[in-house]
Amino acid sequence: MTSKSIFTLAVHAGERGPRPDFTPVVTPIYNSIAYTYESMEDLDAVFARERPGYVYARYGNPTVTALEKAIAALEDGEEAMVFASGMAAIHAALLAAKVKAGATVVAAQDVYGATYALLSKLFSSLGVRTRFVDIADLTAVEQAIVEEKPRAVLFETVSNPLLKVADTPAVVEMAHKHGAEVIVDNTFASPYLIQPLAHGVDYVVHSSTKYLGGHSDVLGGVVVTSAQRCVTLRELTKLVGGNLGPNEAWLTMRGLKTLPLRMIQHCRNATQVAAWLQDHPRISRVNYPGLADHPQHEVATRLFRPDCYGGMISFEITDADQAKVFAFMEALQLVLAATTLGDVYSLVLYPAHSSHRALTPEERAQIGIGEGLVRFSVGIEDVEDIIADLEQALERSK
Ligand code: PLP
Repeated sequence: MTSKSIFTLAVHAGERGPRPDFTPVVTPIYNSIAYTYESMEDLDAVFARERPGYVYARYGNPTVTALEKAIAALEDGEEAMVFASGMAAIHAALLAAKVKAGATVVAAQDVYGATYALLSKLFSSLGVRTRFVDIADLTAVEQAIVEEKPRAVLFETVSNPLLKVADTPAVVEMAHKHGAEVIVDNTFASPYLIQPLAHGVDYVVHSSTKYLGGHSDVLGGVVVTSAQRCVTLRELTKLVGGNLGPNEAWLTMRGLKTLPLRMIQHCRNATQVAAWLQDHPRISRVNYPGLADHPQHEVATRLFRPDCYGGMISFEITDADQAKVFAFMEALQLVLAATTLGDVYSLVLYPAHSSHRALTPEERAQIGIGEGLVRFSVGIEDVEDIIADLEQALERSK
């Protein structure tokens, strides 16, 4: 019989049992916010980073660490730090690169809408100037870097939603020559297609909500970088938070395990869908790096894994306005109209009203996001079923 009261037992009974002498095959979800040690000296040494361990969830968590190690390995980087969303990761990378009042950033003009707004609205209100350039125009990129002497250059390996492919090594060389750090968003390509750190990039960021997680069930972001830069990131995150929780880390880790398998199918399906769309009379333009007429087809072929061009496509419906595009999207029966990408499901999105909603119509027109543009994240379903659905929706929404 225990001498403790039911109030005490309800709180403590069953917790903190003996240290297990077995190893779980899958990393468990550590939902503990804090950790105790045998002695106060041990706790103090962990706090002081003199010995490994965990003290408090904002400083680190074992499930989160497992995910960070996994993503760092997939990107072939020294270390990774995960965040509560892709935007939190991009924000953290900019801060770690010392983008602060008086600094300038050179960024691709068709970066994800919220990234564009983060720079042009939030960072600009804090005294950071951003010059947006066409990242595919290397002469313009070099001119901007020479003129601005930026603190950081930020672009996407494959852009959203126009699928421009950046010549990453060429941009890195220009940026480093003029003292800028390079932040690359590898969300659309995933490390299956390209590992930007191998091309000299300083920070790789992802919205892990997309291909890394892959199942539309978990929001998250990641920065992969050198061990030294990661120290700065961890110190920053202790102050601003934005950490990923252990449940989300566990789900993302589960998704990661099938990333290469999913990417094989995404790439195969997208290649067939892009070719089919190109021949369709209602489609005036198809943006897919795997098509021979894509302006950066050569760059993609040089930089990406052989015969893999990703799962993202965008296409223009001839003479379509918002109403016509909406009619097409509503007519789809298998493909879902939903605001995300990189999932097992096939998904369509209207960039003008979703990913690029934060931009003015003039800003959208300037970067080539027209009224008839549809973004298509090709899923891993049977490609014949995907094409049949597109066909019937294009027919019914005429
Ligand atoms: N980067 C790209 C290329 C994206 O497409 C997105 C979101 O769609 C983000 C970053 C932001 O990620 P999150 O929604 O996880 O914050």
